[in-house]
Formats: sequence, structure tokens, C-alpha cells
Amino acid sequence: MRALTWHGTNDVRVDTHPDPEIINPRDTIIKITSTAICGSDLHLYDGVIPGMKSGDILGHEFMGEVVETGPKSTLKKGQRVVVPFTISCGQCFFCQQQQYSACDNSNPVEKQDASEMLYGHPMSGIFGYSHLTGGYAGGQAEYVRVPFSDVGPIVVPDHLTDDQVLFLSDILPTGWMAADNAEIQPGDTVAVWGAGPVGLFAVQSAVLMGAAQVICIDHHPHRLELAQKFGAKIINFEETHVREALMEMTGGIGPDAVIDAVGMEAHGFTPDNVLDVVKQKIAPGADRGHALRQAILAVRKGGRVSVPGVYGGMLDKWPLGAMMEKGITIKTGQTHVQKYIKDLLRRIEEGEIDTTFLISHHLSLEDAPTGYRNFHDKQNEWTKVVLRPDMAKGA
Ligand SMILES: [Zn+2]
Ligand SMILES: [Zn+2]
Repeated sequence: MRALTWHGTNDVRVDTHPDPEIINPRDTIIKITSTAICGSDLHLYDGVIPGMKSGDILGHEFMGEVVETGPKSTLKKGQRVVVPFTISCGQCFFCQQQQYSACDNSNPVEKQDASEMLYGHPMSGIFGYSHLTGGYAGGQAEYVRVPFSDVGPIVVPDHLTDDQVLFLSDILPTGWMAADNAEIQPGDTVAVWGAGPVGLFAVQSAVLMGAAQVICIDHHPHRLELAQKFGAKIINFEETHVREALMEMTGGIGPDAVIDAVGMEAHGFTPDNVLDVVKQKIAPGADRGHALRQAILAVRKGGRVSVPGVYGGMLDKWPLGAMMEKGITIKTGQTHVQKYIKDLLRRIEEGEIDTTFLISHHLSLEDAPTGYRNFHDKQNEWTKVVLRPDMAKGA
């Protein structure tokens, strides 16, 4: 089969690989119909996440048709499914508490040492996201093996298109959990850093959860426009002093909740970020935390900080004093996709949520390297790339 593979920093290629096979009884094989490039794939593309090997197949946002099932899979051949990016057994202590992204059984034992050393505990499995998370082949390919297929994948009705449901695999539940973690109360002001896919879905979710005022911070005009369509007020950080603007918009109090949907590759020319950029160039595993620092300083006393943005390593210049003195709560984590996916599918079916506005480009799988380059370099216009293995190259 053909698959998009990682070969080093800013070097991805479409290669030929052996087709995946059923290994465990609960596996299925999915023929991919649509798969998206994620902002967090760009962290791999930029080489700032450790644990990648040349030839690894990328991709953790995908859906398709079941073509083969293991004897203990509950899926049937021919079903159309969306697959959560987090791989979860459904039976361990964490899965039982719906903390699916903390599953103890999805990262093979031989892969656990590196993340255990870095984080104190081994990470769970994630498709196509380095050997820290199990070294699983991803779904930017013609076929993929899905473990624990009786727990993760959700069957989607035929009247919904791929574009309508694909983002249930990651970014929609991630934006939703970001808002959920911000513990939004009706009437709240919520500030969201980053108008990327997760930030935009967090804005949409915060509005649905009853926030009175949602403010989105970014520097890409088109992406900010998309946030405005959901009723958000916007701050372009290249034109406006963010903290001053936020204070003005909240009567000098600060937002009740803040969401960092930027993560480890924050932009900006403030001294803290310039230092972070240098450190990250020297060693993978160093984070750029400018957006998060700004969010912590801006949130009101007793406020909530939600962090869906991806961080992978160590951060310094951490505003611990602000956290303590203001009595802030911080919630973060990889998304518990399986916890949210059914409810979000229902909201899509009922027309409450539409995510198709985000897709700027459909490309063939063969054109995936072009997709990565443009999603990386032209962030304002290339808001989301969907790859379709059935499309002809250059179509
Ligand atoms: Zn993703
Ligand atoms: Zn589990």
C-alpha cells in the first residue's frame, strides 16, 4: 500500500509499505477514505517531538471502511467508521473512569521506557505519533490496523459525508474537551489562544456551553475571521497588546477561563519566546510556552486554565507565582475521544455542530507532502487539509 512516511525534519514522503495485517483478536483493518493533517503532525514535521524513526507512517485523524475483522472485533465488514486517535483498551483502571487517553494497555511494554523516563509514567498509544506512544502506524495511508476496535471506532450513518464526521477522530472532541476542562459557566468570559482547528472548535464549543463572551487571539487574519463567524471577539496579537485588551474587555478583572490551543510552537517576539525558540532548536523536548504564560497571567483570580495545546518536554520561566497567588486551576491532557465521540456525532446529526467550514483543501494521498508544506508555511489560508486516497495525484 501507499503511505505518508516521516524521514526527518521537514521531510515526509509517500512510500510503498506492506499492507497491515490482523495481529490481535480485537483488531480490524480499515480502508482509509479520508484522513486529515493535524496541527500536531506539524510538531513531528518540525522534529520537535522525540521518538520518531525514519519510515514511520504518520496520521492520527482518519476514517474509512472496515475490510477485515479479528475474531473479537465487534465491527462488521463494510461498516463506515471514524477512529479515535487515542488507542484505548476499554478495560483498565483508566478506561473504566473514561480517562481513555491514559489507557495503561495500549502502549506496548517494550516502548514504555522513554515516556516513563520523561513523564514519570508511560504514555498511552496514539496512531502515527512517535515511538513514545507505541510506534503505531498511522492512518495517512491506504490501510491501517486498528487495535481494540471494539472500543474506539464509531460507526457513522451513510447520510453523513466524510467531511462532516472526520474530525470526530481528534480535533472536534479536543476542542470540546478544552471547553469542558475550562468548566464554563453561563455568562463567563472565555479567552482562547490560537485560531487553529482546535482553537476554532473550542470557540464553537464555548459558545454552545453558554459563555457570554468568547475572545480569540491569533495573528492570522483569515483564521480570526472564522472565529468571528461563531460570535467570538478577536485580538490580533501583532496589532494589539493582548493582556491590556483582555483587561479592557473584562472590566479589569480578566477572563474567567482561558484556553491555550497553541502549544509548544508558540510565536512572538517577546524575550521569553526568543529564548524558548533557541532552546528548542538545540534539543527536541524543549517547549515554547509563550501562549501559556500569557494565558496564566491574563486569567482572573481563581480562574481556570485549560490546555489542549500539545507540549512534549520541559518548560522554564514558568509563572508558578501567578498560579499560586491567583489560585488558578489548570486542566490538560490528551483527549478522551471515546468519552465524547457519541454525543458529538449526535450534535452533528442534529445540525448543532458543523465542522466542514474548516476544510480549505482536499488533496490526494500522493500529494500529502505538498499538504504538509503548505499547512506549515501558509497557515492563514491552509486551515485544514483532508487527504483522500481515492483521489488522483494533482487533482
Ligand atoms: Zn490531531
Ligand atoms: Zn485501557
